[in-house]
Amino acid sequence: MAAGRIQTDGRLLADMVAQSAEVLAFTGAGISTECGVPDFRSPDSAWKRHPPIPFDAFLASQDARLEAWRRKFAMDDLYAGAQPGRGHAALARLHAAGKMPALITQNIDGLHQRSGIADANVIELHGNGTYAHCLDCGGRHELQTVRAGIGATGAPPSCACGGMVKSATVSFGQPMPRAAMLRARSATLSCDLFIVIGSSLLVQPAASFPLLAKENGARLVLVNREATPLDAAADLILRGDIGDLLDPLWRHSGSRPQASEKTPL
Ligand code: NAD
Repeated sequence: MAAGRIQTDGRLLADMVAQSAEVLAFTGAGISTECGVPDFRSPDSAWKRHPPIPFDAFLASQDARLEAWRRKFAMDDLYAGAQPGRGHAALARLHAAGKMPALITQNIDGLHQRSGIADANVIELHGNGTYAHCLDCGGRHELQTVRAGIGATGAPPSCACGGMVKSATVSFGQPMPRAAMLRARSATLSCDLFIVIGSSLLVQPAASFPLLAKENGARLVLVNREATPLDAAADLILRGDIGDLLDPLWRHSGSRPQASEKTPL
């Protein structure tokens, strides 16, 4: 690819945002690393010490379910109290300024909502790890209650309906959430600027959306400190730290928030 497409100046992205009618951000674990939430594939990632249990194993045995909960709570404890970072704040401002109706995230940490974007406008492809739900009736269960229950009984949680209770995330091997996939596709097809932020783009089918946007005529920007498999398709690659690159975005994008707007951070 042309070296000119690899840049380190976030103002180039701000210019593209200013020129576009509808922006769609697609975020991965990299946007949350500055908040203390480890990403999945960086060499020293804590996920390697507590790897997720695949969905079929979770279903197959009580021991696997208990182990899944043990690992989940071990990871949660590592980043308890994490706050949204500069990347989340920049995207929340773009959203509040009307430039970005919704965003797609692979993240499960709930930090986009905490930065001020309403839940309805965050399309979560891999679910949400801040609560649990019943695999049968879909009823919501709070993590605190689940944890206390496991501590008291030594057994994995179950719902009043009899179903298994699982973190509301999408595990490896678990079907993708149909409604979120449809919404993500629709948002991808209506944007004219698609910005991938902090994703290795190795997890499918999530990683198919950037190419769909490109094929549909949108410009594609990748923001990452390292190369990804879609670099050759990008119109602009911003190489560097996400917080540094996105922090000045709204100041240069023509998307300055209204005086009455609540700044998320
Ligand atoms: P990934 O870990 O595979 O890739 C993260 C990418 O972000 C890497 O390419 C890394 O180089 C880059 N990166 C990390 N910090 C950065 C920074 N400060 N500045 C610039 N680049 C940075 O993440 P993924 O592609 O989102 O896939 C991981 C899967 O695991 C997702 O499906 C997600 O559900 C899950 N996950 C979520 C979280 C979270 O919710 N925060 C954390 C870990 C894993």
